[in-house]
Amino acid sequence: MSNSTKYIFVTGGVTSSLGKGIISASLATLLQGRGYSVTIQKLDPYINIDPGTLNPYEHGECYVTDDGAETDLDLGHYERFLNVPTSQANNVTTGKIYQSVIEKERKGEFLGKTVQVVPHITDEIKERIQILGKKGTYDIVITEIGGTVGDIESLPYVEAVRQMMWEFENDCIVIHLTLVPYLAAAGELKTKPTQHSVKALLELGVQPDILCCRTEHELGLELRKKIAKFCNVSMNAVIESRDANTIYEVPFLMQQEELDKVVLEKLGLSTKTKPDMTKWTEFLNRIHNPKSTVTIGLIGKYVELKDSYKSISEAFIHAGVENECMVEVKWLHSEKITCDNVNKTLDGLDGILVAPGFGSRGISGKIEAVRYARENKVPFFGICLGMQCAVIEYARNVLGYSDAHTTEIVENCVHPVISMMEEQKTISNMGGTMRLGAYKCQLKPSSLASIAYTTDKISERHRHRYEFNNDYLKEFEKAGMIPTGKNPETGLVEIVEIPDHPWFLGAQFHPEYKSTVAKPHPLFVAFVAAVIKNKKKIRNG
Ligand code: GLN
Repeated sequence: MSNSTKYIFVTGGVTSSLGKGIISASLATLLQGRGYSVTIQKLDPYINIDPGTLNPYEHGECYVTDDGAETDLDLGHYERFLNVPTSQANNVTTGKIYQSVIEKERKGEFLGKTVQVVPHITDEIKERIQILGKKGTYDIVITEIGGTVGDIESLPYVEAVRQMMWEFENDCIVIHLTLVPYLAAAGELKTKPTQHSVKALLELGVQPDILCCRTEHELGLELRKKIAKFCNVSMNAVIESRDANTIYEVPFLMQQEELDKVVLEKLGLSTKTKPDMTKWTEFLNRIHNPKSTVTIGLIGKYVELKDSYKSISEAFIHAGVENECMVEVKWLHSEKITCDNVNKTLDGLDGILVAPGFGSRGISGKIEAVRYARENKVPFFGICLGMQCAVIEYARNVLGYSDAHTTEIVENCVHPVISMMEEQKTISNMGGTMRLGAYKCQLKPSSLASIAYTTDKISERHRHRYEFNNDYLKEFEKAGMIPTGKNPETGLVEIVEIPDHPWFLGAQFHPEYKSTVAKPHPLFVAFVAAVIKNKKKIRNG
């Protein structure tokens, strides 16, 4: 057995959205369960430097790491499954690769050479893959290549994989994820698309070691044989990946197929220790056997694409499990909520969450939803823009500043209760310039937050340019909206609460990014607990 870091590449064929991220995270979970230290990295072939400037409709949620990287939502899955923080190094885009190569060229680092895709771009890709391995922290680095084999954009990545397979022969394997579609008219599963996508990989010089076949029906022995034979892989390396009811079942499905065992054998690593999945089994049991159900309205402007709020909906699953409760999320479009229909639209909800966001679209609906939750004493959780809306609503309807707003929407408003942070005022670039990543926060004793966290010092991840305007702090406090979390260095308000309410909390940070299977987020857990309690109270009159 070698002591060097092992690399597992995960590529995708036939179509996008096959769930490479979940398969990678599931495999990593099984390997971690056997005692290996594992991290997962995503290589994204698009030219944006990061998804921070992308509209969520394009690419789903933008996930933020502790060190302030704006990343692909798959990193959220990696953290939720592994409970290990990711960082800047875990998400690389073509934009980042080219930016760094071009910077080196400008500095004259290529010593007069012509700078080319091969070897310069591919070298940069290989370096980025090995950064995580070189840290010495991980036994295994799983690198997920975004996109589909055959795309023009992914060519340099596949070439980098080919070179690494050659250079580190015993330390690398490739898992190729494909689709085995069911043709209803023929009543058959079809292997041809898989054969073609393996052929596309072979043309680029890469022979996959393992095929993970997404399918809606069982892959019989004959089909497995056929795939193995036509794609040059061993029979036990044809892994069936059936659709699951929840993504948290996938590690178990992969375990049944022995994906982890095959991977370890191919990498020459020991398979002696069996995966310890006790916690996961318990988690899954609780998902399947809830003792109660609650309905929480999620008010946002991207609700047509639920991936835009991926971390929030997953955090609700984790918090539900912790409370032995099934949280049904009702997705409500903030643009459709008005003062005339808000009562009818939100009637019957057990809890209300107002989601993060940017810009003016749908903001009045969010403010209406806050008012409804506050006045009707429905448990309320506001995140980032959701918290800012709670502050605006309070200023308008309790402090009586009918024109209160955030300067994000009305720059010169008379009562800017939310205003741009000082350090943001001189920034003109949009990408990577927000207040990003982990910041400390000091909690007020006996607040909802400090009860939930069971500590008074926390650290949470941020992604914003605007903040609570401290000029209004005293007025808010006097009227009953209390800042219960503040940044200890800058005094920025990070949490507001209304004590005279069953549960009303707005957070400037994004707690959803830190909720994992092993550690459901305390604020989500406390919110769901309050929702359950309030529902019971209403039912019992
Ligand atoms: N648009 C708001 C700001 O920049 C909130 C951002 C968010 O919800 N992530 O401060």
